[in-house]
Amino acid sequence: MQKCVLASGNIGKLTELSAALADFNLQLISQSEFNFVEAEETAVTFVENALIKARHASAETGLPALADDSGLVVHALNGDPGIRSARYAQKSANIKPTDADNIEKLLNNLANTEDRSAHFVCVLAMVKHTNDPEPLIATGRWHGNILNDIQGEGGFGYDPVFYCPVTGASAAAMGKEKKAAISHRARAVEQLRELLA
Ligand code: IMP
Repeated sequence: MQKCVLASGNIGKLTELSAALADFNLQLISQSEFNFVEAEETAVTFVENALIKARHASAETGLPALADDSGLVVHALNGDPGIRSARYAQKSANIKPTDADNIEKLLNNLANTEDRSAHFVCVLAMVKHTNDPEPLIATGRWHGNILNDIQGEGGFGYDPVFYCPVTGASAAAMGKEKKAAISHRARAVEQLRELLA
């Protein structure tokens, strides 16, 4: 089995990605098993930030590395919240906003806006070593619309205000399994599988 460090300490992501890549002879190891400081996401695009994280994890461990970066892109807001999705409503350096804070800011910024189209995006970057000149880059998108109010109890982040026209439900109301099958993450994983194959 080829060891590969996952540049995330999120146990949910480790479980999901390990299962999705099980037939590729890859053993994903969480970066939390190593003792290093996470890379700063200093770039302005999802792909660059995913690559920064993958390269950094590989440099710190000497192993191939996989990283992801994801967020919500709202077309009428020039792509915001974008790479700042998790910190959209941040007011001070060390206090992380809640999902509810971020949703409130989003709905306020979209008040009286007719175009409510948006998409979630997930980029996965895999490097064989820190200076790999040919990283694998997989991208998944999930298109929908921003609702006027929250709908549904499940999910996380912007799920309660993201309406998916294909399923006729918000990402928070459609159920975990349906979301896992059609989300931006699922699509990025599918593309990564094709690249690995
Ligand atoms: P991360 O790349 O997993 O850290 O995600 C960045 C941020 O994007 C999250 O904190 C959420 O605000 C948002 N986001 C990413 N994926 C989703 C999703 O599937 N549903 C809702 N929000 C998401």
